[in-house]
Amino acid sequence: MTQAINSLYRQLPSIDKLLQEPGIIPLVESHGQTRVVDMLREMQEQARFNIRNHQTLPEWSDNWAASLNNRIKQEQTSALKPVLNLSGTVLHTNLGRALLAESAIEAVTQAMRSPVTLEYSLDGAGRGHRDRALADLLCTLTGAEDACIVNNNAAAVLLVLATVAQGKQVVVSRGELVEIGGAFRVPDVMEQAGCRLVEVGTTNRTHLKDYQQAINPETGLLMKVHTSNYSIEGFTAEVSGEELAKLGMGVQIPTAIDLGSGSMIDMTQYGLPAEPMPGEYLRQGIDLVTFSGDKLLGGPQAGIIVGRKKWIDAIQRHPLKRALRADKMTLAALEATLRLYQHPEQLHQKLPTLRLLTRPQSEIHDMAQQLLPRVRAYYGEKFIVRDEPCHSQIGSGSLPVDRLPSWALTFTAIDGRGSTLEKLAHQWRNLHNPVIGRLYDGRLWLDLRCLEDGSALLRSLLPSL
Ligand SMILES: *Cc1c(COP(=O)(O)O)cnc(C)c1O
Repeated sequence: MTQAINSLYRQLPSIDKLLQEPGIIPLVESHGQTRVVDMLREMQEQARFNIRNHQTLPEWSDNWAASLNNRIKQEQTSALKPVLNLSGTVLHTNLGRALLAESAIEAVTQAMRSPVTLEYSLDGAGRGHRDRALADLLCTLTGAEDACIVNNNAAAVLLVLATVAQGKQVVVSRGELVEIGGAFRVPDVMEQAGCRLVEVGTTNRTHLKDYQQAINPETGLLMKVHTSNYSIEGFTAEVSGEELAKLGMGVQIPTAIDLGSGSMIDMTQYGLPAEPMPGEYLRQGIDLVTFSGDKLLGGPQAGIIVGRKKWIDAIQRHPLKRALRADKMTLAALEATLRLYQHPEQLHQKLPTLRLLTRPQSEIHDMAQQLLPRVRAYYGEKFIVRDEPCHSQIGSGSLPVDRLPSWALTFTAIDGRGSTLEKLAHQWRNLHNPVIGRLYDGRLWLDLRCLEDGSALLRSLLPSL
């Protein structure tokens, strides 16, 4: 036994010998001696482990060069791999939410390549603050007095709370104490901002008098949170932004609304469900409104705070602003995105988020019918492939109950096994250009709403093309 094992150990080639192998020499040239030697050492370790624990050489050890090549390739695949999002969720948080408009992409590249006037005024007036130009644009679009941009909306909420109500009480309805996914829970953010949460009302009904009764000398803020990712139906009541603003003004306590998604334009003009608009709340007298840059707005990840100048000034001066501020690439992308809103007639073509959300079902159906024969010819042996109507979701917590009619290619396993479908989904996730579908109701669905180039799907799914 030990003899057999010793002979296995002896079969392991030395690093020096491996470095002379014809298959490995070019890898040293392209990736460098250090990296190759490190990886070969690691492989030797693995091989020894295998001998020790399984009394065999690992399978790959009959071709070290090929295995090394694979390992290098695998290490090199980007952590941010482009995929085809056919999951049916347009603003998919785990897939990076909004796709940027071409003009935003250009603006980012330019800001990356060249110094930019980020905090520099060309008229010699000295250092301005980095949100200035965008704040002016946001004021024009929303009617706000001023604005502030940070890294994301969670940061925006944190900064508003820390600036306006640190060490004070913040009154929120019990029906609005939401968790957004990830680690954003309204009560936790309050705590981090140093505020004391005062819950009022009940889960399903909160009235103005609930807020009124909670107000005392310790109250620092009256707040509403848009319950973006769920809805309560039935016997419900909530206090509107307008009522809350009036109450706040009456008792001289500031008011804020976290909209989550929010929209700069009326979504109903595109046949989409109504989504609250920041400008509306400001007109009703709410002091501060926060929303995301990469949800319905269709821009880069960012948090936007719009509202009263007095509060925005204080927010801009808060030390946390320095830690949460947006970088030049974000600001460049956001500016270009916002500029598209100045030309609303073209918005539904130029802004990918809106373009995908407003894609007519008939157009998606045409695409499904075009793709179907070739996909069926390829997968038809093991799967029943059909085109079927389905419903897309907007995603990212926007408009959770509303679904957009769409079309999908669906795959049902002929052997009737769930594991066959799971294997297919797994196989697609591991393609060079991964395809992300959705397992639902015993089928694998590829919702084609977000597929603008059908040939890209064929190139991925039919590898022989
Ligand atoms: C999405 C959302 C957030 C968090 O926004 P991010 O931009 O993801 O940080 C906060 N509040 C509400 C209501 C949301 O919907």
